[in-house]
Amino acid sequence: MQPSANIKKNDNGLLVVPDHVKIPFIEGDGTGPDIWRATQAVIDAAVLAAYNGSKKIDWIEVYAGEKAFEKAGNWLPQETLDTIEEHVAAIKGPLTTPVGKGIRSLNVSIRQKLDLYACVRPVKYIDQVPSPMKSPEKIDMVVFRENTEDLYAGIEWPSESNEARDIISFMSQKLGAHVDEHSGIGIKPISAKNTKRLVSRAIQYAADNRCPSVTLMHKGNIMKFTEGAFCKWGYEVAAERFRDITLTETELYDRFNGKLPAGKILIKDRIADMLFQQVLLRPDEFSVIATPNLNGDYISDALAAQVGGLGMAPGANIGDRCAVFEATHGTAPKYAGLDKVNPSSLILSGAMMMDYLGWKEAGAIIRAGIQEAVRSKTVTYDLARQISGATEVSCSAFGKAIIEKMKIIQ
Ligand code: NAP
Repeated sequence: MQPSANIKKNDNGLLVVPDHVKIPFIEGDGTGPDIWRATQAVIDAAVLAAYNGSKKIDWIEVYAGEKAFEKAGNWLPQETLDTIEEHVAAIKGPLTTPVGKGIRSLNVSIRQKLDLYACVRPVKYIDQVPSPMKSPEKIDMVVFRENTEDLYAGIEWPSESNEARDIISFMSQKLGAHVDEHSGIGIKPISAKNTKRLVSRAIQYAADNRCPSVTLMHKGNIMKFTEGAFCKWGYEVAAERFRDITLTETELYDRFNGKLPAGKILIKDRIADMLFQQVLLRPDEFSVIATPNLNGDYISDALAAQVGGLGMAPGANIGDRCAVFEATHGTAPKYAGLDKVNPSSLILSGAMMMDYLGWKEAGAIIRAGIQEAVRSKTVTYDLARQISGATEVSCSAFGKAIIEKMKIIQ
């Protein structure tokens, strides 16, 4: 096998992935080391099972969070960001947000500094995982949440601050918009450029994965020039870039009697509050959801709960330059070092990373291995306390159970 090398992008922006590839990882804080150990073992075993030694990953550790602070007095070294960008794909465990240490959130900083504008969260039911839904198997969605703007960008000032007072006075004097003079102020920017690149990525995903629809989730009936504009720009980019493969609902009913022709993707939009109802009542009508940052935060976690909670939910932050795959839960510090928590979120994020590299066989084996381990009721404490007749195992033992199941599937 050739020595390991970095992923590159060709002139068309497509990934060129060597068979022996270097991938950086951030272990994470708290329970991060436990779940990373289990995850690395599962990914390596899946790659071996899928490609019989013709593909391999060389893992490169990069530092962020507590480990970086201990080593270099810096929570998020520039070298870490540079290494991730240079290698195009990376995976990370959860990171503690240092309270009052100058950085709002390390995760938000990583997303902003690497311009990882799409937060991608697939939500699919794994058989036997306890769910509050009657028919959780109907849920198979992927949320594309805009990651860089909206109220979530953190442009805000506290009540009584000079900045808040200045803005309130400017609004009153120049714009005729009056708010209580003691208000705190937050700003909600949403731009055509950032909306269009997010929605393009969602439609491209739908095309690559044969998904029937992309739903633009927004609250544009009330917030017309931000969320309403998101919806308008979403339809615009569908028409500009994907005219051949997309249809609106009006076109669907006017021209095709409501029946989606093969190979087409339906672009529809739904008001956010109504969509929360519809994903509970008729989840099989939704496939890819594209939405601004704050809505995306809420709907991703609500959907994760519908299929059994954050412990099982994978995630990725993807930009044009690089992508970071990550566990969606936090560091669960009370369980740190106990080899106890569920590593599935990070393992399934690893499966997403395999798909991103084009190593789809390895991704499929990982998902099947988790499915079989859960079906056999050999699970970590969080699932064991909800599944009757389950055997509780440690984090590392659950990883080993997944690897054993992968061998049988093979
Ligand atoms: P958390 O770490 O997600 O933990 C909350 C609870 O969720 C845990 O006590 C545990 O519930 C359950 N849980 C979390 N991970 C689990 C796993 N892998 N397996 C099974 N159960 C799991 O949330 P938090 O306590 O609010 O946050 C702790 C730290 O994590 C904070 O510093 C926060 O900033 C950070 N954080 C980081 C990220 C990230 O890096 N992406 C995301 C969120 C939070 P039980 O107690 O019921 O067992």
